[in-house]
Amino acid sequence: MERIDCVVIGAGVIGLAAARALSLAGREVIVAEAEDAIGTVTSSRNSEVIHAGIYYPPGSAKARLCVEGKALLYAYCEARGVPHKRLGKLIVAASEDQLVNLDELKARAEANGVHDLKLIDRAAMQVLEPALRGAAALLSPSTGVIDSHAYMLALQGDAEAAGAAFAFRTPVLGGKLAGADGVRLRFGGDSPLELEARLVINAAGLQAHTVMGSIAGVPPEAVPTVGFAKGNYFALTGPCPFSRLIYPVPERGGLGVHLTLDMGAQPRFGPDVEWIEGIDYRVDPARSEPFYAAIRSYWPDLPDGALHPDYCGIRVKLDGNASPDFRIDSSCGPALINLLGFESPGLTASLAIAEHVALLADRAAL
Ligand SMILES: Cc1cc2nc3c(=O)[nH]c(=O)nc-3n(C[C@H](O)[C@H](O)[C@H](O)COP(=O)(O)OP(=O)(O)OC[C@H]3O[C@@H](n4cnc5c(N)ncnc54)[C@H](O)[C@@H]3O)c2cc1C
Repeated sequence: MERIDCVVIGAGVIGLAAARALSLAGREVIVAEAEDAIGTVTSSRNSEVIHAGIYYPPGSAKARLCVEGKALLYAYCEARGVPHKRLGKLIVAASEDQLVNLDELKARAEANGVHDLKLIDRAAMQVLEPALRGAAALLSPSTGVIDSHAYMLALQGDAEAAGAAFAFRTPVLGGKLAGADGVRLRFGGDSPLELEARLVINAAGLQAHTVMGSIAGVPPEAVPTVGFAKGNYFALTGPCPFSRLIYPVPERGGLGVHLTLDMGAQPRFGPDVEWIEGIDYRVDPARSEPFYAAIRSYWPDLPDGALHPDYCGIRVKLDGNASPDFRIDSSCGPALINLLGFESPGLTASLAIAEHVALLADRAAL
């Protein structure tokens, strides 16, 4: 059987960043991707926001990797010419009773190492964003937006320059833990094959739990149960009066219906939280109704009929938890690292996640 040093399963932003880190560390890397291009699933269905690290429980992997990842990502974008903008964001308390939420968020952010948040009153908020309504806001200057596809192309380029090879239309169908030999993997696609890898990084995104469960020798109880929460976006027809990202206070399972601007300053609202049974990327136009109400809590002048369905992305929720932490799982032995539950802020955290994976592989001396 053919043997290879390292296989990364999945060429989304997490797999690409891991492949880059491992190949730069001198590893022989093959990236196996089921689709015919990089980043066609969740990594191209998100808000493209570089998050500051405000919301996550202090001490969580999300908090640490987001804050570390943000610094690494801005530096990487500068060094590699990846288009990005530090637009800043405002989290708005719609009424006086939400002021306590802003205080809590500020304290939480500080515990996470985010010390640049500024609480501003209604007047100061309206100097920055005259169309915005609310009692007060938190200004986050280090929040930004990124051209995520340009970022992924840069990661792929770095990985290839360091010797990584990409196999597209090559789904991993299953495998087997093979003790000291690593992991045996079975691939489908045009040229089905089997090979043995000393190290496997399972970065299959929404399918990472399925891939993990398809590897014989992985204890079934180690595989998380997974739920899916769709996030729908609605685009705005007509002029947008805002130049920063605008967020309400967060809600269960998501950050609330917020306004983001892409690199071309195109506005979109979302994502909301729609619990679904299976993967389905249709956006139901009827879901715009609650969007109008949510957006008008901070932008009362949103015109009737201004929203139209745009796209959606799907968040993976582990073990029935509405806000699960990232899980970097090597419980099945050092040869198999499963990257599970990479919902937001996975894009922001990607370089830090990759550094962590490379360190784990190095420590295990695999
Ligand atoms: C609605 C939404 C908004 C978000 N907004 C933000 C944001 O603004 N900022 C932020 O930092 N993060 C955000 N995120 C999170 C971010 O998008 C994800 O963390 C990130 O894209 C996950 O990347 P991934 O590589 O794990 O998954 P994916 O991009 O889904 O990549 C997984 C890859 O694995 C492949 N694959 C699956 N099964 C197999 C198999 N058996 N064999 C081979 N390949 C396989 C898939 O084809 C896919 O290409 C958001 C997420 C969602 C859902």
